[in-house]
Amino acid sequence: MKHYTIPIFVPELACPNQCIFCNQRSISGCQQQPEPDEVHEIIQRHLKTIPDVNAHVEIGFFGGSFTGIETALQEKYLAVANEYITPAWSTLVGYSRLGDKKIFFQFIHNKHQKSAEVKSQCSDETKIARHIQGIRLSTRPDYIDIKVLKRLKCYGVTTIELGAQSLDDEVLLLSGRGHTVADVERAASMILDSGFALGLQMMTGLPGDTPEKSQQTARRIVELGATCTRIYPTLVIRGTELELRWRKGDYQPQSLREAVELCADLLDIFSLGGVKVIRVGLHPSEGILDGSELLAGPFHPSFRELVKTYKWEQKLLPLKQQHPEGGNITIPVTKNELPYAIGYDSANRNMLEKHFRKVEFSVIRANTGLPLIITDKRTPLPVKNALKKIGNTVFIPAQDLVYKSINGHPDIFMCEGAEGLVVAPGLPEAIKGKLMTTGIRIYTGNINPGKTYPDSAIYNAVVTSEYIIHNLKITDTAILEAFPGRKHLHVNQGYTRCNLIALGTNYFITSDKGIEKVLLGEGKQVLFVDPRPVRLHGQEHGFFPGCCGILNNKLLISASLVHHPDQAIIVSFINEAGLVMHELFPGDLTDVGGIFTIDLKNAT
Ligand code: SF4
Repeated sequence: MKHYTIPIFVPELACPNQCIFCNQRSISGCQQQPEPDEVHEIIQRHLKTIPDVNAHVEIGFFGGSFTGIETALQEKYLAVANEYITPAWSTLVGYSRLGDKKIFFQFIHNKHQKSAEVKSQCSDETKIARHIQGIRLSTRPDYIDIKVLKRLKCYGVTTIELGAQSLDDEVLLLSGRGHTVADVERAASMILDSGFALGLQMMTGLPGDTPEKSQQTARRIVELGATCTRIYPTLVIRGTELELRWRKGDYQPQSLREAVELCADLLDIFSLGGVKVIRVGLHPSEGILDGSELLAGPFHPSFRELVKTYKWEQKLLPLKQQHPEGGNITIPVTKNELPYAIGYDSANRNMLEKHFRKVEFSVIRANTGLPLIITDKRTPLPVKNALKKIGNTVFIPAQDLVYKSINGHPDIFMCEGAEGLVVAPGLPEAIKGKLMTTGIRIYTGNINPGKTYPDSAIYNAVVTSEYIIHNLKITDTAILEAFPGRKHLHVNQGYTRCNLIALGTNYFITSDKGIEKVLLGEGKQVLFVDPRPVRLHGQEHGFFPGCCGILNNKLLISASLVHHPDQAIIVSFINEAGLVMHELFPGDLTDVGGIFTIDLKNAT
């Protein structure tokens, strides 16, 4: 199913706010509000270009703060849009909530009459009407309240995008946004509670902003429950307060390369957080394309392509080190990713051709959209079979690098975080190749784990949106670099991931008393689980978190908790954390080195 949005630009002509980057008319490329009749024309013009089948179509009101314009005009626009929504959906549009709005009642009534009359004829008009599945719009967080949401619900609005821009109060203040982070949080929660899908848009390179703050904003957007986002690097537009500051030397925009690199990190955070990135970079209005309105900043008409080219560059660069002799190389890549693997202007192909004699890109089948699941090859067969039913599996064969009990454990050879995976350089090429083709970001660690503890534990860290938790004396520094913006939390236990799993941001299960103490000191909810009932080949026992992985709202367990005496307490804690337990096998608890899961639905 392909998604289409019919864009209607509605500038807020007398916006009372003074965001320092904004010259609203330049950015939307639209200098006056359209008449409702023009909205009809725009919708019909677009519909003629959209296929009848396999299309999910929405009407989108963009270009300003929709709920900031005059209420009567909002209702005129929404009534036009609502006319195109499928009849089945229209009947769901809260008529009873609107109650006193006669015009809306008549509209629904007429449409149903028309549907009944033309049931068998299926006129062109009816075909068109059946095309639209929803209405989306963008607005400011402080323009949302219950009354506004009721109005939008009545007219069939399905998605509300808030211009959050940053989730750092200092950045918001310096950018003259006129709202706070708390305003965004309040509006986001009201939108979700009212049954709308939530979008949160962000900017990079605002005054006072840093890459770390932008990354933190992205993580917070994930946590706030957004299903989609747009990322806009800040540009200096003529006629804005930012132009004055830039001319005085008080503001320095990001370079194109800085913005591209940062946006690559943000795409990774959103990808693993399950947030769809609808747009990266400002839509090029005429003034921006011909340079008359754009004065400075990281604008490129194919900005997203540059970002995706950079992401592939980062994946491909290590190949030069791994194959110092050069020779021939074939890069497996899905059809969708092929242009980015080759790179904008063939940048990545050119880069590889300087080192390799022959470079080929071979198209492989796209992933199925199922999550990637990584665990030890020696995991009990029923568990592996259960995992194969819920995802694309990668089973790690025994590696000579460490001792036998743990030599196929993923948590010994890799560390997972929102931005991607850090993997030991010595992992077999076949495994790395399989990971690379999924579109997730792979960072190569500096050295391989050593034979014995603590060298064997250098990748055994836990990364959450808030922390890197590990014995920081042994952590491979690639982990610290790959997952910036977190507090580094030192614990004495080097086998941290073996002993710890995070159930979201505030709940943790551990089998290590030292880790428990440190996390309690951070004000977290921590459950200590006795490790002794957990089996690990060649050892007295394993650890409970080593049996576990998180997939969406499920805690996957490689066995059954009936084999643990504290079953009731553990289940109650998992539920309190908002997760559901998913036992993969009725057998004994077995430490498999963790079950790593990566949602590939939004892999970029
Ligand atoms: S960006 Fe700020 S100033 Fe511009 S239209 Fe939106 S709220 Fe108004």
